[in-house]
Amino acid sequence: MPHPALGLGFARSRLDRTALPRDGEALARHAADPSALTVVIAGEVPILLVPAEGGSPTALMPLPGLDRLPGGVREQALLGTWDGRPALATLLDPGAAEAVAGDPGFQALDLRSIAVGGVVPEEEAGLLAAAKSVLSWHARHRFCANCGAPTAPAQAGFRRDCGACSAQHFPRTDPVVIMLVTRGDHCLLGRQARFPAGNYSCLAGFLEPGETVEDAVRREVREEAGIGVGRVAYHSSQPWPFPSSLMIGCVADALDEALTIDREELEDARWFHRDEVALMMENRHPGGLRNPPPVAIAHHLIRSFLEGARG
Ligand SMILES: [Zn+2]
Repeated sequence: MPHPALGLGFARSRLDRTALPRDGEALARHAADPSALTVVIAGEVPILLVPAEGGSPTALMPLPGLDRLPGGVREQALLGTWDGRPALATLLDPGAAEAVAGDPGFQALDLRSIAVGGVVPEEEAGLLAAAKSVLSWHARHRFCANCGAPTAPAQAGFRRDCGACSAQHFPRTDPVVIMLVTRGDHCLLGRQARFPAGNYSCLAGFLEPGETVEDAVRREVREEAGIGVGRVAYHSSQPWPFPSSLMIGCVADALDEALTIDREELEDARWFHRDEVALMMENRHPGGLRNPPPVAIAHHLIRSFLEGARG
């Protein structure tokens, strides 16, 4: 699809990643710009700015406003520009989220709840996702994976360099395949034990090194449901910043029907007729079964099956 579907979490952003060069001085230069904006994450938790005049919280706050927040700046990255203003990501100590609890000017809330609840505009949730992924990467890569020496941020926060062995480390994204397997008027949905009661979704799993997207889809479906898969087609993708996944949404044709379910992975999986899925999507299923909400890419894969659209 040409544009992210409405409601798909973390997929929209007005961030212009190309507007500012990421040279060695870029971060300091733009951090000194009085028009600069930042999103703020304390440990794993975004801190939102609540307007004094009321209205919705925003993820974007003027960079000079950081002075009002407790705790030291652990890391910063220059993400790009937002409406022409430099946009940074700032990582604070985890304690800052608790410290603002009584301050009506701020709201600390986990990113999943922000997206599901539509607490900030969709495009700001996308910006928060980018910030959280790159800042989480900094927090977890303070030492060189090659030699174990400390690393230091470079390239405006989009690289870490090792002073001992000169290795350069780049922010990572972990690809996950998520697929709707169909056979005629039926699709295959499963549930993990940790899902809310009654929720059925697409199968999914991490790509392994050296594997194509198509082969990962076929392997995961074979492992989890014992089903052979033929044609695999790309549908759309979604950043999933927990901490830095990319969900690669696919549709896939089943070659057979008899399920052998991996009970370690799935509590249940079964074929659903499209009429039953339609009831689930509308929250009218007589057994109370449901599909994931629009914030999840699975919702859009299932919806496109119901609408008869493919690929
Ligand atoms: Zn090293």
